[in-house]
Amino acid sequence: MPELPEVETVKRTLKQYLVGRKIIDIKINYDKIIKYDNKRFIDNLVNQTFNDIDRYGKYLIFKFNDYSLISHLRMEGKYFLQNDLKHLTKHDHIIFSLDNNQYLTYHDVRKFGTMELTKKGQEFRLDSLKKLGPEINNPNIDLSKVYNSIKHSNRSIKAILLDQTVITGLGNIYVDETLFKAKIHPETNMNELSFERFKSIIFSAQKVVEKAIKLGGTTIRSYQSSMGVDGRFQNELNVHTLVGKECSVCNSIIKKIRVAGRGTYFCPNCQKKESL
Ligand SMILES: [Zn+2]
Repeated sequence: MPELPEVETVKRTLKQYLVGRKIIDIKINYDKIIKYDNKRFIDNLVNQTFNDIDRYGKYLIFKFNDYSLISHLRMEGKYFLQNDLKHLTKHDHIIFSLDNNQYLTYHDVRKFGTMELTKKGQEFRLDSLKKLGPEINNPNIDLSKVYNSIKHSNRSIKAILLDQTVITGLGNIYVDETLFKAKIHPETNMNELSFERFKSIIFSAQKVVEKAIKLGGTTIRSYQSSMGVDGRFQNELNVHTLVGKECSVCNSIIKKIRVAGRGTYFCPNCQKKESL
């Protein structure tokens, strides 16, 4: 599943090719991806020019003259730029024809991705965006505000970091890597963490995400970023997916358990449960 660093890579890649291009036609082969009336979607976007591409958490925000298109790739959504339509498959659901004779195609094997159109400037009024917490890689994140809103929670730190309404942008891979870096057991309850400890976890998360963005994200299973850019961060993973392997720090054997409903990898020696 693409997480923030992968979506950031997709954004940067698409931005290079799309800014300044005008949409001249749209073909929709599978309309459930579009949370909007199909006809209005086409009518509103045809003749619009890509002015910018932004990202908030795992949402891509394509900005046009009058509208913004909010796209979430979910499990396996991908964008491709193509010179012709010879290689279209049944998984290419939406085809944007551009004014330079290229096509932007949206490909999604699982069909869980979404596209939502809104008037420019109204993006954060959409239900999907308005409930999201501050972005993990925002250097100005107000950590005491975040901490105060969750410090009494008896949910695990893993569940808290996965909760996009608390902080947005961390998914399963990066939460496991963050907790390893911060030396925190994933089942530690939020209400057992001091502000200082919580801050150090967030700083670890920011470092993990920053490095992943630099390396273009992670390619796990079928996820590949746009245009065949492969993430190299998977070579840097310390625990995620590495069950049975030796910890790079202490040589203990990495374990897999279930926390917050997700497969969770950790080093039982580096990430000991703290007794209070
Ligand atoms: Zn270890």
